Amino acid sequence: MTRLLLVAGFALLTACGNTDTPSAAVSAQVEAPASDDETAVVKKRSGIALENIDHATRPQDDFFRYANGAWMDKTEIPPDEVRYGSWTEVRERNEERLKSVLEEAAATDSEPGSDLQKIGDFYTSYMDEARADELGLEALREELGHIEAASTHDDLIPLFGRNMWLDLGAPFDYYVDRDRGDTSRNLFYLWQGGLGMPDRDYYLEDDEKFVTMRAGYVDYADKLLSLAGHEDSRAAAEAILALETRIAEIHWDKLRVRDRIETYNLMPADKLAELAPGFDWGTYLEAAGLASAAEINFSTPSFFTDFGALWTGVPVDDWKSYLTLHLIDGFAYQLSQPFFDARFEFRGRVLRGQEQSRPRWEYALQNANALLQDAIGRIYLERFFPPEADRRMRVMVDNLKEAYSRSIEELDWMQPETKAEAQKKLAALRVYVGYPEYFEDYSAVDILPDDLLGNMIRGTRSDYQRDLDDLGQPPRKGQFLIGTQQVNAYILPTASELVFLAGALQPPFFDLEADDAVNYGAIGSAIGHEMLHAFDDQGRKIDEKGELRDWWAAEDAEEYERRAQKMIDQYSAYEPIEGLNINGELTLGENIGDHAGLTMAFRGYQLSLDGKPSEVIDGFTGEQRFFMGYAGVWRLIAREEFMREQITSDPHSPSRYRVIGVVSNMPEFYEAFGVKEGDGHWRAPADRVKIW
Ligand SMILES: [Zn+2]
Repeated sequence: MTRLLLVAGFALLTACGNTDTPSAAVSAQVEAPASDDETAVVKKRSGIALENIDHATRPQDDFFRYANGAWMDKTEIPPDEVRYGSWTEVRERNEERLKSVLEEAAATDSEPGSDLQKIGDFYTSYMDEARADELGLEALREELGHIEAASTHDDLIPLFGRNMWLDLGAPFDYYVDRDRGDTSRNLFYLWQGGLGMPDRDYYLEDDEKFVTMRAGYVDYADKLLSLAGHEDSRAAAEAILALETRIAEIHWDKLRVRDRIETYNLMPADKLAELAPGFDWGTYLEAAGLASAAEINFSTPSFFTDFGALWTGVPVDDWKSYLTLHLIDGFAYQLSQPFFDARFEFRGRVLRGQEQSRPRWEYALQNANALLQDAIGRIYLERFFPPEADRRMRVMVDNLKEAYSRSIEELDWMQPETKAEAQKKLAALRVYVGYPEYFEDYSAVDILPDDLLGNMIRGTRSDYQRDLDDLGQPPRKGQFLIGTQQVNAYILPTASELVFLAGALQPPFFDLEADDAVNYGAIGSAIGHEMLHAFDDQGRKIDEKGELRDWWAAEDAEEYERRAQKMIDQYSAYEPIEGLNINGELTLGENIGDHAGLTMAFRGYQLSLDGKPSEVIDGFTGEQRFFMGYAGVWRLIAREEFMREQITSDPHSPSRYRVIGVVSNMPEFYEAFGVKEGDGHWRAPADRVKIW
């Protein structure tokens, strides 16, 4: 399934199957790790990075800096990164693991057609830079030929459909997921697309940064088209920007596309012509492999209506330049060096402030993970996923569920009927840790050691074909959308599935050798955060079966919105870059998720203590270590360009604010560190937000 899908908010963890039984609180047992000295009672370590602490800052004044300041002062962002922090470190460690998997596969003489052969040969083809240089644009010649042959608007429509098979998002995007109105089947969600820059703001806002990026985009388009032999590449590049600006004008904004009800618009395929006249939908659907689809979800209907009205006003030659650009851009990293450099200059440096590109093997790895996801995931689980991690994670998940269950009962703003619905949802939530229930089959994809572009195109097409094959079929339980080898976690609301990937089960997110406190603060808060998405302002619109139904009473919504407004105001007052405040509305859902996640993780930790006081380790109480674990997860420094992009378009707040915005509202934090009136984090009780 293609990008667009979700959420990837936090990140984290571990092992097999689901833990969907609502259970009583489970006390985590601290087990002694194997020791050389059989008689020693081995104490768990704190898991806190003591060397990162800035002792010149008081935790009550600036907890983010207290926990991470010494590290921030001595760390520089590497030139090939746009940000650097705990996430980067875990990702790097994880990539080294995965690199070893790929290298060994490439060095192994394995059975033709086996997963191992495909992984190895894909890697070999990717690392053969000399061959990529020798081929230049040759490898895309056939695809380019289709574009060159077009001479009328009618000729363009099959090319638009063809782009679905290449996952180019030009001019439309898509994903396949459960039908929100009938979760027993998969549905095709057609989305607005067509932009070469991340968001409509990049085209429409007058801010100087966006003006610079638009100029960079024109330079980039000019460069790629001239490398492809276009005779007037500058004028063509400018026409592309003008065309995409028109597309940006009809795009829904980022707040609106998050709305699960507004974006659910099921249509019989033969009615598309009525909703969006001016475009030959029959030809389009056929080219996109959707001729037999009876129904399609028009996620952003007015976009398609407006597209039907505008597209014939754009000259065919402009469309051809546009399609050429998107094709080459989509595969530029797999072409010869000049294409690679051009793409990096724009997408890496201009858009994100990255100073230098990453080593080639990382690009190989990223694409192998995308195209052969579960084949690599299988090997990863065997090698890097200890059963003990699985066990401890399950205990934590059960305690978090219990914490939610008790908290829902205690809420003073939720009606009893709504609480009953929430409990049903909680009970239905299946949590997967590490192991999917279903592994994708790659037998239909041919991977050759000397045909990188061919591998990319065949892999991408085959991915799309699998999506088409799934249409109308019942969804598979426990099929992961992201490979378990990745450092991430997500929730799939329509399936009531919460997934923690094996790749994320590493310190500082999860430390098998550390005491529970730091782990509850780190991975536990991530579990809590993801769980909350089942109950928040979007989760309220989906019931326990994953179907669209607003299960809140009107009174619940009113009180929730009143409390949420306080949080919007709090975050909107933060100004991470001079003149650029956090968008409290855009980040609301994630901020509430952070707040609830940490609150529930704290309660889960308390449940694990089972009434016993926490131990002091390294001079910190368990409650203090819990918060230190949380702040450690968000340790990060970032370049301004990246921050700016994040503040503008990411529904998550910048990491510093994910820490201070949350702890300054939590009485549990005040108590753990003795926060008093006058301290930096102090908010008067009436000003603190409590929702969950
Ligand atoms: Zn989230």
